[in-house]
Order: sequence, then structure tokens, then C-alpha cells
Amino acid sequence: MVFILERDVTDAQVDVFRKEFERQGFSTIYAPGTEHKAVCLLGNTSVIDMDQVVESHSYVSYGRRVTEQYKAAGRTVHPDDTVITVGSGENAVQIGGGTFTVISGPCSVETEAQICLVAESVKAAGAKILRGGAFKPRTSPYSFQGLGTDGLALLKTAKALTGLPLISEIMNQTQLSLFEDVDIVQIGARNMQNFDLLKAVGRMGKPVLLKRGLCNTLDELLMSAEYVMNSGCGSVILCERGIRTFETATRNTLDLAGVCVLKEKTHLPVLVDPSHAAGIRSLVAPLAKAALAVGADGVMIESHNDPANALCDGAQSLDLLQFSALMDELRVRVPIEGKRLQ
Ligand code: PEP
Ligand code: MN
Repeated sequence: MVFILERDVTDAQVDVFRKEFERQGFSTIYAPGTEHKAVCLLGNTSVIDMDQVVESHSYVSYGRRVTEQYKAAGRTVHPDDTVITVGSGENAVQIGGGTFTVISGPCSVETEAQICLVAESVKAAGAKILRGGAFKPRTSPYSFQGLGTDGLALLKTAKALTGLPLISEIMNQTQLSLFEDVDIVQIGARNMQNFDLLKAVGRMGKPVLLKRGLCNTLDELLMSAEYVMNSGCGSVILCERGIRTFETATRNTLDLAGVCVLKEKTHLPVLVDPSHAAGIRSLVAPLAKAALAVGADGVMIESHNDPANALCDGAQSLDLLQFSALMDELRVRVPIEGKRLQ
């Protein structure tokens, strides 16, 4: 259910209005758009007498039942792009709303020297957010599983050195408290429909990057975003990272049309991960440029100081010079697409 507010509604009135419903157990989303200001109620709204709400609040213009599936993520209630800010001061980065954000770093954190070198190098090249896996969802239990909490500590060291905000993947609810210093919590492709994890992460009060599952439709991705948003998180970033098809020439098939569909349907930022999509280093730069061309809000790219000896995903990792060369290309192309490089 959405309530459209009068144009001159004050922030204090919006606050009172939201709290009134939150006390009754509903989640609320406030969308102060350019067309109108709206408050969306999430939960079992069949019990609400919409006309009575309109009559009893002078600053509510009218109410409407939202019949579309994506009540929180859809553009019906929230037509303007959501802009998510991470980091602060000179390290503040905006994701969405006309920006193109580049996230980079290794698949896995391996050593202090490795993560610090990669962080400094990708920062110098122009990346604004550092990625690095500490808990790794590996297909084989015999593969490197990540450094765990030690990996998170090393990421913090790299952040202290460079100021870059961090993104890292959480695998389950037992790890929630470990992610306090991580700026964006990543839900990996394999966990896209781990609904309990989605709900728990949504309650953390941090931006969440939600990757599309290997075999999931765009509808399913958006419904998973609804789970996170229903738990109180308005800052969800979607990530297309390739899906499984009959094609075997690439690790996955990058669904660029899906990026366009998402941009039409949702106000949430949509990033592309060309590294996991392709699985092949030489394809990463062309696919990153393609992502920009179809309207993605940014890319997440795996980079490594020594890809040949990386403990995870070396074949798809750019070396530091290749990453820097890609950034040079993006620096030229992003403004041509009418966006601002972040
Ligand atoms: C990753 O980004 O490190 C990762 C494991 O990606 P995905 O969940 O897309 O496979
Ligand atoms: Mn990887």
C-alpha cells in the first residue's frame, strides 16, 4: 500500500506517519521523488482502512494498493533511481543515479602484502571500492575456502591504508557480527534464495549487494531484493554475474538484456560482474564496456597482483596493469554515456 503525500509535507510529519505504522509491525519505505513524495507500507496491509488513513492525516493526499509484485524494488512506488552512498569524506562513493561505480580487488584475500598491494594499485587506477572474499563459497570442499576472520582483518588493514570502502561476501547468519566494519555486505549467487540470510542481512542497516543466482530469473532476483528491503534495508544493489546456459565457451552467460530489463523495472542500482560471467581474463574488459553501454550502474572486477598464482579465480582476474588500462578506457567512455565515473 502506498500513500502519496502533499507536496508541502514536512520531514517531521513523514517521520510521525512512518512510526505510526512501524509500531503496528509494518515496514515502511519513504520515497521523496521528484514527481511526488510517497510512503510505502510493507506487510499485511489488507487490515488497513486506506480511506480512514487519508481522512485522518491532513498531509496525505491519497492512498493506493500496490498490486505489482515488487512493492519495494519496483518503480511504481519509487520512480526515481535509488542512490546509495558508501564511505565518507573524500572516500564517499555514490552508487546509482547517473554514476558508474567501479569495484575491484582479488577474488580472495590471501596475504597482507597481496591485499594491500592490490588495494593501493586499484585505487591509483581509479577504483572506488575494494572487494575481497574472506569466506569463499567454493564448488569443491578441497579448494581454498578463504582466510575467514583473518581475511576480514586484512581487508580492514587495506582500508586503513587506502581509505577505500570494503565489500565482502557473507555466507551465513553466524557471520553477521563479523561484518560490522564491512561497508557493503555481499550475498553471493549461491545464496540468492537463502531467505533467512536475506532477512538477517536486511536488518544490519548496511548496503547489501545481491548477486543473481546461477539459475535464477530476474523475477526471482527482484523477489529476493524484496526480502532484504522488507527487513528494513533500502540500500540494495543488484548484480548480474552471468547465468548458466547450454553455452560452455564462457564460465557463465552474461545476461546483458537482463540488465536493461532490471533498469526498467527497478529503481535499485544494477552492477555487472564480468569476471564471474566470463571466467576468462580477455573477455572482462569488453564485457565491462558492454555493461556501461547497456546502462549498468557500475562493474565489479576481479584483479590480482599475480593472477597466475592466485588461490582463487586467477584465470578471470585482471593483472594490475590490465585493470589500470581498463580504467583508462572507462574514464573516456563513461562521460560519453552521460554518467559520472565513481
Ligand atoms: C565472488 O564475487 O567472489 C563470488 C563468489 O561471486 P558469485 O557469488 O557471483 O559466484
Ligand atoms: Mn571469484
